[in-house]
Amino acid sequence: MAQLELDTAVQYVKGVGPARSEQLAQLGIRTVEDLLLYFPRRFDLRRHAQMISSIRGTEQTVTVAGEVVDVHNQKFGSRPYFQCTLDDGTGCVGVKWFHGGYLASQIKPDMCIAVSGRPSIYREVIQFINPHWADVTETPQQDLSADELLPVYPAGAKLSSMVIAKIANAVLPQTGALIPRWFDARYVAERGLMSRPAAVAAMHKPQDRRQWSEARRRLAYDECLLMQLAIALRRMKEVSRPAHPLRMTEQIDRRIRARFPFALTAAQDTVVRQIAADLGRSRPMNRLLQGDVGAGKTVVALYAALLAVANRTQAAIMAPTEILAAQHFRKIGAYLTRSKVRIALLVGGQGASERRETLESLAGGKIDIVVGTHALISEKVRFERLALVVVDEQHKFGVRQRSSIRGKGFAPHYLVMTATPIPRTLALTVFGDLDVSIIDALPPGRGKTATRLIGPDGLKGELESVRKRLAAGQQAYFIYPLVSASDNSDLTAAEEAREQLATGPLRDFRVGLIHGQMPPAKKEAVMARFRAGSIQVLAASVVVEVGLDVPAANVMVIMHAERFGLAQLHQLRGRIGRGVEDAVCILVGEPKNPIAKRRLAVLADTDDGFKIAEEDLRLRGPGEFFGTRQHGLPELKVADLIEDFELLRLGRRDAFAIVAEDPDLSAPHHQQLRREMVRAYQGGLDLLGGA
Ligand code: ADP
Ligand code: MG
Repeated sequence: MAQLELDTAVQYVKGVGPARSEQLAQLGIRTVEDLLLYFPRRFDLRRHAQMISSIRGTEQTVTVAGEVVDVHNQKFGSRPYFQCTLDDGTGCVGVKWFHGGYLASQIKPDMCIAVSGRPSIYREVIQFINPHWADVTETPQQDLSADELLPVYPAGAKLSSMVIAKIANAVLPQTGALIPRWFDARYVAERGLMSRPAAVAAMHKPQDRRQWSEARRRLAYDECLLMQLAIALRRMKEVSRPAHPLRMTEQIDRRIRARFPFALTAAQDTVVRQIAADLGRSRPMNRLLQGDVGAGKTVVALYAALLAVANRTQAAIMAPTEILAAQHFRKIGAYLTRSKVRIALLVGGQGASERRETLESLAGGKIDIVVGTHALISEKVRFERLALVVVDEQHKFGVRQRSSIRGKGFAPHYLVMTATPIPRTLALTVFGDLDVSIIDALPPGRGKTATRLIGPDGLKGELESVRKRLAAGQQAYFIYPLVSASDNSDLTAAEEAREQLATGPLRDFRVGLIHGQMPPAKKEAVMARFRAGSIQVLAASVVVEVGLDVPAANVMVIMHAERFGLAQLHQLRGRIGRGVEDAVCILVGEPKNPIAKRRLAVLADTDDGFKIAEEDLRLRGPGEFFGTRQHGLPELKVADLIEDFELLRLGRRDAFAIVAEDPDLSAPHHQQLRREMVRAYQGGLDLLGGA
């Protein structure tokens, strides 16, 4: 066989012809390198066979191997079975497979088979019922007496794990020569890592579980490091553009604070200081502000915006929906009454001339703070001196529409705010190029929210206490998963539910309806009536999920709670308990599977958003949590972002140190890393300054 290289087509590997290479290609394996990096998904332990005479009949699982001395195929009766007797020279066992008639053509007298399973005793004879079995007629005796790790590769339609193992085995001896080293021996030793070639080999053929997990650790580290290198490079690039430095003086600080009818909390103070320090620099801030619902992020955003205005620049504040944009606009307007700060709202529902006027004022520098939806940045909105962009409630982690607004001239400072606490893992990955600030305590004087979990039958009993609260002047949300019930759905929709509530149990109260398919103006009108108290009960689809703030609304009933995601439920619940009164959240649901059960239990158990977020990520797994590959991260083959969090941190530390020392990876000892970067990230060249 010719000398193999990493990029040699897999067809030239021993045992691979055109047909096999076609099948391998379907698994994404085209080259020798692909093959070496195609790892077993897991290993099965094949236990060595025990002497039949040593079996007690009380073991959990055992393996025995012996000659088949007789067979019997019982075809008739209510429970047909296939049965045989095994003799290994020390004793005999009976083996029986119910409905095992198909085995009659496979298990014949005189062959040797191994069976493994849980033994039992029947009429003083040891027997196995429905065990796993394998033909070991050709297997040498010594192989049967040693435990063995059997690799299980992700198989293809026509390519079994065993065949893949054979093909991989053909190149494994050359791993040491083929797989390049990324680092010198010292770097690897300092971190207690295996060498990369040894790790690749051990991923396929470990001596034992410990060696396999060491190998996995090394390769997971490599993936984390590469990912963090890309993040470090991207960040380096972003902060290399100039931004307007926004100077802070004691007088400005005092004037801004005087705008708020309350003192900032200690948590808000800390965050405001971090932000002001960032804004004072002439490179753009990239900061993520996390704070549970109601923590008081809007105030922090406004503080930052006013700092921009004090420096004669403009700020844009963006919300994910028009309702929220309008709400921000109203709140900000209230804080700014009788100030000279000029603010404007820019949303889709506005008339053409009003809109044109706003756009002109923005371009001419006649507006200081503009509030709008994300359309603000996707459309051709021009600013005279934009210095700060605040993005509120960015739930869709993957969707980071940042580039368009950053395209021109000075880079604006950038503040993302999220009320969905971001698990540590994501803070280091999807948001890995942002600094993080956290508001970890709510403003004082808030009531507590009790959460109760009940079945559909329990609702009637709860409604009595809901009526009492309503009669006492409180307000309530009833949340439903769908707008209108479709034929094949058993969900009560908000529309029908409103009817039922308004004519039934809540007929003494005013019940309104809001859902996602209403035109924005209508939604806004309904919200206004709810805020004013002229609607007491709001039957709603999930549109109320984000950001709405009605302090008198202290009751939330979530129907079909099992249909909602954990983060979503947490968001929903955050709509209540915003006043001084204690609030109650009633989850009505019938969780049918353990995960749905767990979700509701977590929610009933804690209101710590970070705990909930971690749990959510754990329950859903990163793939689903992120949404369909929107997150812009490469697929990780080995690393598990949740389980390997410590490695992720280590990789991050190392990657940022490498980039700080060698920003374009031009040093000789970084050349392999550079190649790997460029390969793993198509945009890698771009990150490396186009070289
Ligand atoms: P978030 O955007 O984090 O969900 P908001 O900024 O909307 O929270 O604030 C929630 C409520 O708390 C608002 O009604 C706001 O007026 C109030 N609030 C914010 N900061 C303070 C504070 N320092 N002291 C008292 N109330 C505050
Ligand atoms: Mg908010």
